[in-house]
Parts: sequence; C-alpha cells; structure tokens
Amino acid sequence: MLLQENLAQAQSGQKITAKGYALAHKDDTFAPFSFTRHAMGDTDILIEILYAGICHSDIHSARSEWKKGIYPMVPGHEIAGRVVATGKNVSKFKVGDYAGVGCMVNSCGECEACKKSLEQFCERGQTIFTYDCLDCFHENTPTYGGYSNNIVVSEKFAVNVPQDAPLDKVAPLLCAGITTYSPLKFSGVGKGHKVAIAGFGGLGVMALKYALQMGAEVSIFARDFRKREAALNLGAKVLYASPSECQEKFDFIISTIPTGYDPMQYVNLLKHGGEMAIVGLPPLNETIKTDLTRLVFCANKKVYGSIIGGMQETQEMLDFSIKHNIYPETEIIGVDEINSAYESLTNGRAKFRYVIDMGSLH
Ligand code: NDP
Ligand code: ZN
Repeated sequence: MLLQENLAQAQSGQKITAKGYALAHKDDTFAPFSFTRHAMGDTDILIEILYAGICHSDIHSARSEWKKGIYPMVPGHEIAGRVVATGKNVSKFKVGDYAGVGCMVNSCGECEACKKSLEQFCERGQTIFTYDCLDCFHENTPTYGGYSNNIVVSEKFAVNVPQDAPLDKVAPLLCAGITTYSPLKFSGVGKGHKVAIAGFGGLGVMALKYALQMGAEVSIFARDFRKREAALNLGAKVLYASPSECQEKFDFIISTIPTGYDPMQYVNLLKHGGEMAIVGLPPLNETIKTDLTRLVFCANKKVYGSIIGGMQETQEMLDFSIKHNIYPETEIIGVDEINSAYESLTNGRAKFRYVIDMGSLH
C-alpha cells in the first residue's frame, strides 16, 4: 500500500511520504513519526529501506552531544535497500537494484574536493548529511535518516550493491566500513605492519577485519576484557584493557573511542614516524584538551583526523568488502528495540553493531 502511494508520488513529482522513528528532543525516546521527503529530481532514486545500522554517531547526534540537533530527528546513515523508482536521467540504477546510502546525500559537485570525489570535504560547505542537516539544495528543509521506510537520494550518493550481497550486513559498511577503510588506505597499511585499534565496537571490528586483510598484525585496546575472546577469535593478536598495559610500538593506530580520553596515551605507542588516525568523536564536553608540547617531543609521529570517505572510495570499500567477504558483526533488532539498543551502546553492554530490520516498521 505504502509503496504504491510512494510510486504515484514519484511519478507525479509530489513529495514522498515516509514513516520512521524519531526523537522530539534530545532527552526523548524513539516513537513513530510520519514526514515527507523532497520530490524526486531527474537524477534521484527512491529507495525502499530494508536495513539501517545504528552508529554511535546517531547517539551523539540524537543527544545533541556535538551541537544542538534538529528535531524531530530521524537518525540513521547506514542504509541498505531496494531501488523502487528512478528519475529520468538516472544511469547507475534501475528499479529492483540494491543500493546503499551512507552519511551524505549531496554536495556542490563543483569545487576541487567534490571533483576529486572527496564530497565530505566540500569546499563550499555544502556537504549535506543524511540527517540532522538543512538541505540547501531543497529549500533548507531538514534531512531525515534511515530509521524509516524510504529515502530519496541523488544517484551519485548511493552505491551499487550486488543482488546476492547480505543486505543486513552491507548496511553498516556505509559508515563503519568506509570510516575505517579510508584511513587504513590513506596511511598505506600493508603486509607486516603493526596496527592497533582503540575502541572495539562497530567501527573497531571493521578496522580489525580490514587491517588483517591488508596483511597487518593487529592489537586491540578496549576499556575492559569483556571482548577479549571475540577479538582473538576474529584474528587479533592481543586485547589490552588499557594503553598503560602495552609494551609494544605500532606503525599505525586508529582511535574509534567515543568517550573522553587522552590521545597522547596512544600517540606514545607509535613508532618513530608512525601514524595515528582519529575517527572517534567524543561529546564536546568530554573532549580532552591535550598539551601540544607533548606532541612536539614525540618523535615525528603523525596524528590526523579522518571523516567517512568520498563516494568513489565508498564504492571501492564496498566492492573490496564483498570480494573478501568482510562484513560487520551484527545483531538484528526491530524498531521497538531502538531505545534499548541506545542504552546498551552507551553503558557497555552492546556487542558490535545493531541493525534495524525495517520490515518491523508497520
Ligand atoms: P560503538 O559504541 O559501537 O563502539 C565504541 C567502542 O569504544 C565500544 O566498544 C566501547 O567499549 C569503546 N570505548 C568507549 N570508551 C573507551 C575508552 N575510553 N577506551 C577504549 N575503548 C572505549 O561506536 P562506533 O564504533 O559506532 O563509533 C565510534 C566513534 O566513532 C563514535 O564517536 C562515532 O561518532 C565516531 N564515528 C566517526 C566517524 C567519522 O567519520 N570520523 C564515522 C562514524 C562514527 P564498550 O564495548 O565497553 O562499550
Ligand atoms: Zn556513522
């Protein structure tokens, strides 16, 4: 029924009605929410969302931990689904194809960064995030994410997913996958490198799998020993419950830690010239101000931040993941379990990635 209504709207250039789960304010719990998405443009596709991952960024945004959020908020930027309608100039997709959408839905397309497919760094500041963002290409209307039944997106910001791929496991690749793949590639991680991963959740497990595939030896830093067995079973060499326990040095460290911590504890564990990528984004009020003098004395170690990856690299990551059978560790939940999943992800009870089965949305 819903789908029929959406198809009629797509054909007649009307706004697309959607249903999802939203928060009305930062301290709220999730409840059903009806809204509209912008009408289909000539290069847009309409996707029926089948699965949506829950990223820790969803929690930071939902709770206004980085900035005041835009409410009602429908989070979700790890989206996998089926293409149900295409604009007349769409060339990458046809109806029935599978597609994935990550953290961005548009950008200017004309600046140097966009021309290099680094849309996340759009120099005009027009990177449109999938939710919690005002869309300057559509009358500054708020964007709504993947905890919903559909999404309209420019085909450029959707990736092609093969028909036989496990869609529930593909969804988290669209953020957790690309965010870890991109800095591993940027730093040239390869055979024989010693890599460490700080924060072993949804992103951390992807970093482990990619680094192993690239030929590295991988150590994990968690905040307790709860996930030691899982880490070793997945191929990690060792799991440390704190950087102070560690005697070895690394070529590359990626930090996915979402809480306040001292990054210098990890920088000190790099070899001379080693590199550390920071992708974890603790709440603003928990960010530790580090003493730059300590960095000056730390032997030419390089520390950089990294945010998701461009669309070209996102497709590359997806193709690489599917080729090497690299998928997240997931637990599928229904829409009525989003609130408890948020609880578990903040109090250390979560395993790795929760993925919402959108078939549970009625
Ligand atoms: P998860 O909650 O799935 O995983 C975070 C992990 O970090 C958990 O395993 C948690 O432990 C662990 N952890 C928390 N505090 C510490 C600590 N002090 N020391 C060591 N480990 C710790 O989150 P995600 O993987 O989804 O996201 C991680 C971070 O990355 C978030 O801040 C998110 O916003 C950010 N992010 C950044 C992106 C980017 O483009 N830069 C993109 C996507 C996410 P426990 O298992 O005990 O809970
Ligand atoms: Zn994310």
